[in-house]
Amino acid sequence: MAEQRAGGGVNAIQIKGLNKWYDSYHALRDVELTVAHGERVVVCGPSGSGKSTLIRCVNSLETHDSGTINVDGTMLGGKASIEAIRAEVGMVFQQFNLFPHLTILQNLTLGPMKARGLSRHNAEARAMKYLERVRIPEQAHKKPGALSGGQQQRVAIARSLCMEPKIMLFDEPTSALDPEMIAEVLDVIVDLAESGMTMIVVTHEMGFARRAADKMVFMDHGAIVETGTPEEFFEAPKTERCRSFINQILKH
Ligand code: ADP
Repeated sequence: MAEQRAGGGVNAIQIKGLNKWYDSYHALRDVELTVAHGERVVVCGPSGSGKSTLIRCVNSLETHDSGTINVDGTMLGGKASIEAIRAEVGMVFQQFNLFPHLTILQNLTLGPMKARGLSRHNAEARAMKYLERVRIPEQAHKKPGALSGGQQQRVAIARSLCMEPKIMLFDEPTSALDPEMIAEVLDVIVDLAESGMTMIVVTHEMGFARRAADKMVFMDHGAIVETGTPEEFFEAPKTERCRSFINQILKH
């Protein structure tokens, strides 16, 4: 364990030779990716290119078939590591997945009380701190159905933060939102990025990528085709596939 920790000290995430199949479908092909502590990585690429599968593997929501994933010194794979990884890695999905019958505050205190053993008092204090962070403390006592989509997604982000993860994964966090609500959610994610949170964000929001990303990753057919800084990526993409993808996205 000490040896693993020492090896994982420099990088938050290190993925080597990762392959995954869904039956005969090769969903991830020899993926190599390193994410430093505090680094913000944006993953983009056509639908079905494996972006979601990749970050779900990092969170142990999917198993992988070959290769290694090291998250902050813990090698994924063993049963024991799933709990350890979920404690360190928060995930925000396209759908908010809030419990509709519970208030926002109850949604936020559930995890910390059940999984972390916090008292109700401490869990509520923590929940309010993160609701302030996503700028909707006044919604604490409402049920999710009374909130807009953008507000619900901000609650979902706060819910993840309540578990105090070291790494956050976002899987197309604004794809299910009406256009006028996208900016308020992206602003919260940019704030989080600026606070030094290590994150991988799957998104097609290229304005966000320019503002927040340290590194861009372009995937196609299960493989990482190109990585680079946002400047390199947008101004001088190295591959034709990446260039045509950027052109298509920017047209919309
Ligand atoms: P992206 O996030 O880039 O849209 P995904 O990672 O969701 O891509 O999917 C990659 C490919 O794997 C797609 O062709 C998809 O249909 C397939 N896939 C994803 N999840 C499953 C699953 N649970 N079972 C079978 N195939 C899947």
